[in-house]
Amino acid sequence: MVQQARSGDQWNLKLSQQLSIQAEQESTALMQELNAYLVSQEEPDQLSWKWGLNEKFTVKTSYEAMASGPFIESCNAKVWQLKAPLRILIFGWLAIKERILTTDNLTRKGWELPNICYLCRKEAESVRHLFHACEFTSLLRREITVKMPELSSCQLFQRGSFRAVILFSKHTKVRHMQLAFCFILWKERCRRLFQDKRKNVEAVGDEICQEYTSWNTLRREE
Ligand SMILES: [Zn+2]
Repeated sequence: MVQQARSGDQWNLKLSQQLSIQAEQESTALMQELNAYLVSQEEPDQLSWKWGLNEKFTVKTSYEAMASGPFIESCNAKVWQLKAPLRILIFGWLAIKERILTTDNLTRKGWELPNICYLCRKEAESVRHLFHACEFTSLLRREITVKMPELSSCQLFQRGSFRAVILFSKHTKVRHMQLAFCFILWKERCRRLFQDKRKNVEAVGDEICQEYTSWNTLRREE
């Protein structure tokens, strides 16, 4: 159990043997890497396969991971294939790794903040809540499929996990739309938190469509 190796917010690996100097250095480096990972006490432990769709193991993804050489590239790297401004790709990279500064992530880093979603004001804020479960997000997704009817048949955009859509949708336009969607949704969340201003679903939908369309020039250069 991962929980047994934790005490409070720290890792507590009890190594029984006296370590050599080299092993001590490796242990310190390992702890530094481990401390970069945030662990939720509430969520049960689960296995995941970082090279596959929806973090599920398949023989095909296993073969592809082995065939990619000694430096196995996480499938998260597919985000860099998208044609969007660099700052938005960086945001997308952090979002799919669940590292953006949502309230639950800040709380795990020691900040004392009330954890409430600034979009629906009903549930706690986490990356998964913001981009999946939030009722504001569901309304917004419906708004986009009305504004851009060509996306209304893309089931993955409507129901899939935002990570799976950004990384694996067969439709490039859907991958781009999901990234623009998450970015502008996060922007609206920050607008509410830091500027005490808000846009309604329709206005945020317009902003998403404008952002998505503004990348057309980048996409045409493909
Ligand atoms: Zn919410």
